[in-house]
Amino acid sequence: MTMRKEYGPFGCVVLDPDWAQPSRAQRGGRDDRFDERVRLYLVGVAPLVIAELRNAGPGEVERLRVEAANELGSHGDDLQYGGRHQASSRTALATGFGILAYADGGVTAFGVHACTTPHEGCPGARHSAGSPAVGGDGRPI
Ligand SMILES: [Zn+2]
Repeated sequence: MTMRKEYGPFGCVVLDPDWAQPSRAQRGGRDDRFDERVRLYLVGVAPLVIAELRNAGPGEVERLRVEAANELGSHGDDLQYGGRHQASSRTALATGFGILAYADGGVTAFGVHACTTPHEGCPGARHSAGSPAVGGDGRPI
């Protein structure tokens, strides 16, 4: 990948302050805390994926992208409801999230934002305590 990496090896991965917990009706009546678990998982694992991708070439990124898309397309239900492919689908989600973090403006999904370079409107810049990579003024430190 040929892109700037101004946030350091782990990028900027933060909980989106604008995220709203889905209502019970939106969750199909489930109360299994899936949303919360996905958020915590991505906040913990996405920085590692971003770091792993730091020196990956375009061919490697494309291979990982295709594998993640195929895994989620085939076993996304296991990610949400459990099953034999839950671990691999969860890894595929983190891989996709890490790849998208390198896009302009990063990625925001499941109440988590990840990016690798400073950009306008970055939720990481709004955290008053700042992330490890962002100061209180929203600029990289
Ligand atoms: Zn950002």
